[in-house]
Amino acid sequence: MKYIFVTGGVVSSLGKGLAAASLGTLLEHRGLKVLLQKFDPYLNVDPGTMSPYQHGEVYVLDDGAETDLDLGHYERFTHANLSQVNSLSSGQVFENVIKNERAGKYLGATVQFIPHVTDEIKGRLKTATDRNPDTDVIITEIGGTVGDIEGHLFLEALRQFALDVGHENVCFIHVTLLPMVKAAGEIKTKPTQQSVAKLREIGIQPDIIICRTEHDLDDDNRRKIAMFCNVQKKNVVAFRDVENTIYECPLDLRKDKLDRLVSDVLGLESETPDLSKWQGFVDRLVNPSKRTKIGVVGKYIELNDAYKSIYESLTIAGAEHDTAIEIVKVDAENIEKNGASEVIGQVDGILVPGGFGERGTEGKILAAQYAREQHIPYFGICLGMQIATIEFARNVCGLKEANSTEFDKDCPHPVISLQEEQQGITDMGASMRLGSCESSLVPGTQSFELYGQTETIHERHRHRYEFNPSYRQQLESAGLIIASESVKEGLVEIIEIKDHPFFIAAQFHPEFKSKPNSPHPIFSGFIKASLR
Ligand code: GLN
Repeated sequence: MKYIFVTGGVVSSLGKGLAAASLGTLLEHRGLKVLLQKFDPYLNVDPGTMSPYQHGEVYVLDDGAETDLDLGHYERFTHANLSQVNSLSSGQVFENVIKNERAGKYLGATVQFIPHVTDEIKGRLKTATDRNPDTDVIITEIGGTVGDIEGHLFLEALRQFALDVGHENVCFIHVTLLPMVKAAGEIKTKPTQQSVAKLREIGIQPDIIICRTEHDLDDDNRRKIAMFCNVQKKNVVAFRDVENTIYECPLDLRKDKLDRLVSDVLGLESETPDLSKWQGFVDRLVNPSKRTKIGVVGKYIELNDAYKSIYESLTIAGAEHDTAIEIVKVDAENIEKNGASEVIGQVDGILVPGGFGERGTEGKILAAQYAREQHIPYFGICLGMQIATIEFARNVCGLKEANSTEFDKDCPHPVISLQEEQQGITDMGASMRLGSCESSLVPGTQSFELYGQTETIHERHRHRYEFNPSYRQQLESAGLIIASESVKEGLVEIIEIKDHPFFIAAQFHPEFKSKPNSPHPIFSGFIKASLR
């Protein structure tokens, strides 16, 4: 087993996650089996309880782990099979250490940061290795920036780990920023030098430096970075701003042969990658002949990261249909103020994503009503499905006061209500219905056709509320179609509407299962319908 550790320097938001994911792509194309994971130094046990404003989207894995959105990049860029063990935070580390201490597992020792906390971190690397014995390379990204107080113990653990397993099995990659000082017309390497100096102070000498840069990296700067940072010049890699899409990142990193450099550091025998399929996907993304406008009606709409996987899934489905996706980001509260036709009158398809809390819900209900009445393709995801149900109950079944008990606890017609298993839950962390569940599809429905006429599907979930079964008959007799139910609990998973070109709303999150060249079938169907 070989280990790659990716750290970041100078500033955050460097695209470290994309660098790690892209390296994963390249190594997979060399025929290697790759696993990716993220260590985040913050104290939350997982990002599940964090606000999207803090953290962007919470990405959910098959096993129900609520993780950082970088794991979404990992899954889209590779075939790595990720689980809870691949997402570690300081919160989890300390929780375990303190549990062990209370259980007397340290046999009377004074419990200390070193070795007990660092052992806990190293233990996670061992667990990941043990669970995935057929993996060739594990890429671990360390969140945050070198120099942060909270990241220190992780770096110390990695330093020790490299000693434990032998440095020949470990490759340290440091991703830094090369700022351009406009007035001087020069790229500056000093922040990179200082950031690497910080790493070396801890005892970590990077093998490869990936330099984020808006401009090309000339020979002089490469030489300078190599000399001051104590790396070979060929191991200074440029990572430029990509022009069109993040899926160009692996192709950019390939220009400096990052994958070969890593293979050389680790002594890995592997083939030269054939990236023609990936390149083909990028070409389709970059030069489409058609165009469609999708309105995404949300509450955190000014925040790009809040709906990351949805935007990626739309783009990926667009590539399949030779179509550029123009995403119109719509603030649901704007629809409340100005009306649906004013705000979303020009879009070809309407998507209402997941969400929590009441703010903006009435605007989303108006959007669903507009889509239903005007025969505009509608795609609801999680909350977007609950919204569509409420709208149908109110405006088709005449249940004017229909709502979700999430927004109105005592509403007279709770068409969306708390799942039975959720009653009495007070701890908010990791307590929703989470992860992959099996559900059945009803033959004859649009969804059944889109999924290629399969009868069972597996999709990922993250919710507390559900379609209230006591209203099922009433809604169905008014024309609502239940296209899918969960096998175990019989929960409603997909609703559709009769005589509508495309109206599909799912309780689950299909956006977590789209990959380049393999869009999720509902996203694909939605784009096709929007084009029509
Ligand atoms: N707030 C809703 C629930 O908890 C929807 C959740 C979501 O959209 N992820 O059921």
